[in-house]
Amino acid sequence: MTQPRTLLALNWKMNKTPTEAREWARELASRYTRSAAELAVLAPAIDLPGLKELLPAGVDVGGQDVSAHAAGAYTGEISAAMLRDVHATYVIVGHSERREYHLETDAVVAAKARQAQAHGLTPIVCVGERLDVRERGEHVRFTLDQLRASTEGVQANLVVAYEPVWAIGTGRTATADDAEEMAAALRGALAGLYGPEAAALRVLYGGSVKPDNIAALCAQPNVNGALVGGASLQVDDVLALAHALS
Ligand code: PEP
Repeated sequence: MTQPRTLLALNWKMNKTPTEAREWARELASRYTRSAAELAVLAPAIDLPGLKELLPAGVDVGGQDVSAHAAGAYTGEISAAMLRDVHATYVIVGHSERREYHLETDAVVAAKARQAQAHGLTPIVCVGERLDVRERGEHVRFTLDQLRASTEGVQANLVVAYEPVWAIGTGRTATADDAEEMAAALRGALAGLYGPEAAALRVLYGGSVKPDNIAALCAQPNVNGALVGGASLQVDDVLALAHALS
């Protein structure tokens, strides 16, 4: 079985106005040479139309969240159809910041992933344990339970991102062995859910990924790329990340 193409998914979080996003895209376009890894920019929804226009061909864009509903009286929400209309390919669902600050449950995350798929988007389903869970040695069981509950009714076209909460934005990265332990466990669980199709699915690692640690993390047999927050904001860092995967 050939390995799925490595995915470098950039999570800008709530950073960059549309003007700043266009400047970033112009700079990337002037310096980027196609990388071995697929690149996807997961930007604030309002940035997406300008980004898609200016990014080099082959660089995907996506959202950071999507409504669990198709349309209607949900003030402030962005639907999957809206994201698709501005050429999004991916959307993050269940990022730990949304689980924590917006109290999103696994059931809500699964509903969002189903909405994304119903409109042709590939959901990037985030899972991962908090520090206290890891310290109790329960991280694998916790994360697999979270995966199963967050993919209820979800089809086999998804990406899974393992993001230990204690590593996000903290500068504390999981070791390559930690990442591989969980990625292998997640792949086993995906095989249970989706059968042989699971071999083609990508499992990403996320949590303080930087140009100097991405190669070791992504060299692990079950890690097929990275979800990157802080190091996604500067074009220099993104080029270095992509270069490290070439
Ligand atoms: C993230 O936001 O998904 C993330 C992993 O952030 P950081 O790379 O900054 O830890």
